[in-house]
Amino acid sequence: MDDHAGVAEPAQIDAVVVGAGFAGLYALYRLRAMGLSVRVFEAGDGVGGTWYWNRYPGARCDIESVDYSYSFSPELEQEWEWTERYPSQPELLRYLNHVADRFELRPHITLSTRVRAAEFDGDRWLVSTDYEQLRARFVIMATGCLSDARTPDLPGLADFTGSAFHTARWPEPEPDLTDRRVGVIGTGSSGVQVIPMLAERAGHVHVFQRTPAYSLPARNRALPADELAAIKSTYPERRAHSRRTIGGTVGLSHEVSQNPTLSVNPDLRRAEYARRWSYGGQAMVGAFVDLLTDPAANECAATFIRDRIAETVRNPDVAEALTPRDYPFAAKRPCIDTNYYDTYNRDDVTLVDLRAEPLRTITPTGIATTRAEYDLDTLVLATGFDAYTGALARIHIAGRDGVTLADKWAGGPRAYLGCTLAGFPNLFLVTGPGSPSVLTNMVLAIEQHIDWIADLLTHMDKHGFERAEPLVAAESAWAEQSDTLARRTLYYQANSWFLGANVPGKPRLFLPYVGGLGRFGKHLTTVSDGGYQELIFD
Ligand code: FAD
Ligand code: NAP
Repeated sequence: MDDHAGVAEPAQIDAVVVGAGFAGLYALYRLRAMGLSVRVFEAGDGVGGTWYWNRYPGARCDIESVDYSYSFSPELEQEWEWTERYPSQPELLRYLNHVADRFELRPHITLSTRVRAAEFDGDRWLVSTDYEQLRARFVIMATGCLSDARTPDLPGLADFTGSAFHTARWPEPEPDLTDRRVGVIGTGSSGVQVIPMLAERAGHVHVFQRTPAYSLPARNRALPADELAAIKSTYPERRAHSRRTIGGTVGLSHEVSQNPTLSVNPDLRRAEYARRWSYGGQAMVGAFVDLLTDPAANECAATFIRDRIAETVRNPDVAEALTPRDYPFAAKRPCIDTNYYDTYNRDDVTLVDLRAEPLRTITPTGIATTRAEYDLDTLVLATGFDAYTGALARIHIAGRDGVTLADKWAGGPRAYLGCTLAGFPNLFLVTGPGSPSVLTNMVLAIEQHIDWIADLLTHMDKHGFERAEPLVAAESAWAEQSDTLARRTLYYQANSWFLGANVPGKPRLFLPYVGGLGRFGKHLTTVSDGGYQELIFD
């Protein structure tokens, strides 16, 4: 309906959800089930979030498919047939599209539309998208921890005349790289996955590495029907157990031993590392209880991995350049690979060590380092994300009295329990700073957060409360508690995106909560069972 000035009045709605990945889809499902009117806006042309955008060859989850999947619907759990131990990006995208159809979510989702602003007017949130405005009581920012793809400020990049793709903005249809000279910048998880696949497709691959990764073998394989059926028959117990753990899954991949490293003799220690190395995935991280707290313990695990690199990569100089030595293992998220180190034994793959020969500039035809010029047709930027805060910073979010989220977070992001913000009533983050999020199985972490938010909304409804936000003191105490836990670990000893260290000028603060999914769940329950004493209602 038009007002007298000819401008459409903003539609009134209960909730706006921003993003249609795992979090946005589940938030929509939960809030609709409560009878709320909900609109979801998604910048991408399809649902799926991470698994819509990251279409690079080799993109794959490193948590097992049967665990990295929704637990809210036993029917969905039983119906969906996972085909591999670790799901590939196409399979995850099919799954999330199936979820959108199966639960009739699509009519409430507007694709190809970015939310530009969310401003609190003292009563409701005025949400502005590319095309319309809405007045909403609640806003759920399901914008993703790793959705804001980051291209570093590389000199000369704009002048490159070949094609350049960020792994998280991979083009469709798939570019034909046959006989192409491809350069890859970045050897984090995305680089480690894409490099072996590019080596198989391209004419020659040059890998431009600044920091070598610790990479562990995935040991992906097909999931036989009988194994899947056996897992399905115990799904409730599996999920209940997962929710109590640190990593949100079951099995050796996230099973943390209670033994300190040095309490075990060197032979048995190596046998334990080897057992976990053979098992695959993140299993190595849990080999001993002190891996992330005791530098000497960490060094033992790091040495084991360095030895695997040395025995895999035939050229000792290349092996040495690939070997991480100046930060603890797992202080950056360990990469999980298929044939990563082996790939450097190919004649058509060259490692360029940017520590030995720093990148000088991108040229119109390639990359110039201080030592040589490399001619390239295609440049792949596996350069990561502005994690947690990047996607939120792109939205003008103004809370009470016009205070913006950018101002509030100028000294570093903090959110009570990773999801509520003092001064921003009824605005919720999903897996925000101070939640276990990326240190755990994200799907269960997302469900845990959204269930807590939904319960809070039910509580408000029951008591006739219009708005809720955390006490400033509660928010500060949570941020301090979360940071204190992180500082007891080795996480602060690596320049990781966990700390915002990959984005120049970003405050250096450890962003996830290190206590694990189970412990975090207990905090959430204590707060809700205690009648939300740490929140103010009006
Ligand atoms: P996302 O999936 O990131 O979705 C957020 C959506 O919000 C995006 O589609 C984005 O377009 C949209 N959006 C953002 N801002 C706006 C806006 N202003 N307006 C409209 N739309 C907006 N986690 C694991 O637990 N295990 C793994 O093995 C794992 N592997 C990963 C591999 C890759 C390559 C990446 C990048 C991440 C991986 N993750 C993994 C983390 C992954 O991001 C989460 O598991 C999960 O998919 C996050 O879901 P989400 O819905 O919270 O966010
Ligand atoms: P990332 O871990 O941040 O890695 C980015 C890489 O780009 C690093 O090697 C970095 O080097 C390099 N880089 C950045 N700027 C550079 C520059 N100016 N010059 C040279 N090199 C530069 O990003 P990511 O690999 O996309 O992974 C991010 C996260 O997404 C992962 O940690 C994980 O949580 C998730 N993910 C998971 C999987 C999976 O296997 N399931 C796959 C992909 C992503 P420096 O280290 O020197 O900065």
